[in-house]
Amino acid sequence: MTVQPTIGSAAAAFLARKHGLFIDGESRPSRDGATSEIFDPATGLKVADVAEAAAADVEYAVRSAQAAFADGRWRLLRPADRRRILWRLSDLIDLHADEIAELETIEQGKSIGIARHVEVAGGAEFVRYAAGLAMTVTGNTLDLSMAGPPGVQYTAYTRREPVGVVAAIAPWNFPFMIALWKVAPALAAGCSVVLKPSEVTPLTALRLAELALEAGVPPGVFNVVTGHGATCGAALASSPLVAKISFTGSTATGKIIGRAAMDRMTRLSLELGGKNAAIVLRDADIDAVLPGLMTGAFFNQGQVCAAASRIYVEAPLFDRLAVGLQDAIGELSVGPGLDPHSAINPLVSSAHRMKVQSHIDQALGSGAEVIQGREGPNADGYYVRPTLVLNPEAGLPLVREEIFGPVLTLTRVSDANEAVKLANDSDYGLAASLWTNNLKDTLDLIPRIEAGTVWVNTHIPLDPNLPFGGFKQSGNSREFGIGWVAQFTEEKSVCIAH
Ligand code: NDP
Repeated sequence: MTVQPTIGSAAAAFLARKHGLFIDGESRPSRDGATSEIFDPATGLKVADVAEAAAADVEYAVRSAQAAFADGRWRLLRPADRRRILWRLSDLIDLHADEIAELETIEQGKSIGIARHVEVAGGAEFVRYAAGLAMTVTGNTLDLSMAGPPGVQYTAYTRREPVGVVAAIAPWNFPFMIALWKVAPALAAGCSVVLKPSEVTPLTALRLAELALEAGVPPGVFNVVTGHGATCGAALASSPLVAKISFTGSTATGKIIGRAAMDRMTRLSLELGGKNAAIVLRDADIDAVLPGLMTGAFFNQGQVCAAASRIYVEAPLFDRLAVGLQDAIGELSVGPGLDPHSAINPLVSSAHRMKVQSHIDQALGSGAEVIQGREGPNADGYYVRPTLVLNPEAGLPLVREEIFGPVLTLTRVSDANEAVKLANDSDYGLAASLWTNNLKDTLDLIPRIEAGTVWVNTHIPLDPNLPFGGFKQSGNSREFGIGWVAQFTEEKSVCIAH
């Protein structure tokens, strides 16, 4: 029998509560009383019921956000006051870090270590960075050249104003941190927000809304609607009162949202999927490549938009890398996220597990050499064995589509040119890594790789100061960096005749 590790009293008490929609500073049931069930991926057992928003509930939340924006209760605060309140929020996140991390692991399945140190502690740092940017939003003063009436001069400048109500739509792979990546810069800019988390991972978003209120974000400024993407999400994305949509999720959903946004010219930032390549050149340090790509591929069970999922390695290193990866995969322990000794944890949902498994089954049927690690400890959890596929056919869906699971391909190439060609042969262009100690190759190849981020001799680090986003169908914008908060503003040009 497998013993399921336990959680602390704060997370247990939160799970035991009724979970309504968070609108106007209060938890409320949906109007028709509908709820959805939330499951623990490690056991398949229900852990909570959460209110399920229909279009009318979404409209109520958006109106609440719009009213808060219109009366200026947040927008008109001094930037330093918004910064102070967001700093308080980040401190509250740290204060409740264990509780939030446990809730994250319970609803998402991930490692408690990743939840605690990456999502929660890391998330708090992103909030602090965005908070600081609240005081840096600037415009320009401009000298004009057009001639005016005799004796008239012009003084012109630009100013940036918060865009309005932001619809923040987040995925399930890092539910807490990615919610913060939207909510924090939007609030720093002075916007109001309606956040829709994934229907399978809504709990930490609801806890975040409570902490924001406690930190001093006024009621109505930050709302959370929980429910299905096709109903609640679609209603939010098509609301005429939403000024900007900040979406992270799959490319397919991003396109649906993009079409809805275009109808109303709603401002839109899309952070979408990836099919990220790692290029390993013959001179690479295998002792760095192995742990780097094991982390790049299997961190969070590969449920990472930037995960390394295709490795192209020059022939002289192929065998060593294949054997090294095989050994490392065989050593990965598989178990519940609450067990700190488990390296691979369950996937987020039963449906996602089936999708990933079907890709593996297809690879097995294709005749490719497939190497697999250990099974999960129980059949009811949503486990998938960590998997390495050697030299798959280039047209296999596993090579072309985003799998979002613990699956990695390793392909032998004759040289760097072939590696770059195969790496770029993708609709996606989110991230890539290059493994070499040759400076000339490094500098020659970086501009040729079609990806929003290129890591060299590492794969996966993100930082608030390093812009992140995709080329091609991986998105249309960048998160983080010094322009992050300004993306939640509109530029207004002012021209004064005198
Ligand atoms: P989805 O696209 O399925 O869902 C993302 C969000 O959109 C969820 O909240 C979902 O709700 C909602 N949604 C679904 N349909 C609609 C709709 N018609 N209108 C409005 N909202 C809708 O993505 P996943 O949750 O499966 O997340 C995984 C994806 O996210 C991967 O493709 C991954 O690459 C990408 N991602 C990208 C990142 C980046 O920075 N580029 C970072 C992290 C992930 P519900 O879940 O309730 O259906």
